[in-house]
Amino acid sequence: MISGVFLFFGTMVAPALVRYVEKFGRTALYLSVPIITIKNSVNFCNTIANGIIKKKRKAFMGWKYKFVVLFVAVLPMLGGMRAAGTAEMAEQSDSGEQRVLQWVDFAIPAAAMERALAIDIKSRGEEEPVDWITLLALLGTRYGGNWNSYSAADMDRDAEQLRAGKAPQDILQGYQNYSYFETAYHAVLDGFVGEYQKERPSEERPGLVVLEDGYGLRAYHPIAEGYGYSHYRDFGSSRSYGFRRRHLGNDLCGFIGTPVVAVESGYVEEIGWNQYGGWRVGIRSFDNKRYYYYAHLRKDRPFAADLEAGSKVQAGEVIGYLGMTGYSSTENVNNMKVPHLHFGMQLIFDESQKDADAEIWIDVYDLVELLESNRATVVRDEESKEYTRKYNLFDEHFAGAE
Ligand SMILES: [Zn+2]
Repeated sequence: MISGVFLFFGTMVAPALVRYVEKFGRTALYLSVPIITIKNSVNFCNTIANGIIKKKRKAFMGWKYKFVVLFVAVLPMLGGMRAAGTAEMAEQSDSGEQRVLQWVDFAIPAAAMERALAIDIKSRGEEEPVDWITLLALLGTRYGGNWNSYSAADMDRDAEQLRAGKAPQDILQGYQNYSYFETAYHAVLDGFVGEYQKERPSEERPGLVVLEDGYGLRAYHPIAEGYGYSHYRDFGSSRSYGFRRRHLGNDLCGFIGTPVVAVESGYVEEIGWNQYGGWRVGIRSFDNKRYYYYAHLRKDRPFAADLEAGSKVQAGEVIGYLGMTGYSSTENVNNMKVPHLHFGMQLIFDESQKDADAEIWIDVYDLVELLESNRATVVRDEESKEYTRKYNLFDEHFAGAE
């Protein structure tokens, strides 16, 4: 029966829909959002907190199954929509005008990013070093952005071609939109990897630190090392406080007071109270493309001392403390059910996209997973009760910024 449904959708309905999407472009792409939303709409942090949600979840399961069936049937259509949406964006760039992407589906699995980065690091110093973002953009193009098709073998094969000195466009004969994926993935990942100098404890002389040159991940996990947290894929879940809207980040549930760490270096752009985010801080990367949003910070003492609008922040630095503030127009109110950090990343290709309906938020779940391998060690100052990083990391981005 199921295969019959597949056949029907695959041969009759899907092609018709793809034609529809080709005609109506990106508006149709957005139609896919409610379907994905239904699949994800149970809030994990709340599930931990109280059994009431569990009951709701049970009731939800019954029709969830029906939606899963519907979802599977709709998948081929989604593929068509995505391809059509991407094609539209590519056309804009081919006209020769400056490229301003309007939407980015960032769906690279953490395992793929880890592998690409390992290949990049290993190839350093070779005649044709492999850039991890180039490699990921190659695969993104092959998959049309749908990383469900990812295989490590595909990546290794493409990496070999790059290592042999072939250009991405030559490797990708017959595939289109490479420049779209290249632009999009660079916008997301540019601040994550590079050369650095990192302090580490000295093996020869205990108690002292030594400075070591390195290359690799220099963005940090938003939760300090040694602090437990849990999270799940909650991007796009529905939220009902205020008005119905989608969840545009990742919730990391943990204990109140857990030190929150700057993922990438940049400037504090916004800091203070916001009705939805509670105590929140927004940090813009030095290249202006990424806006990091950390929200629901601790009541009474949300931020690291001296942090203010315009402050220059370094990746790995403690910027504040996990809490449960927000969902109130009154300042300093705990209205979250469960303590958690809301972590989000907004892409800005053009300043008009900063505070308008044109905001581009990406799913950061896999980025958080990737950053697991780089968590900041922190120490507590007994007098001020503030936490600070134990080991510094210096990068030329930070050093070069005014
Ligand atoms: Zn959230």
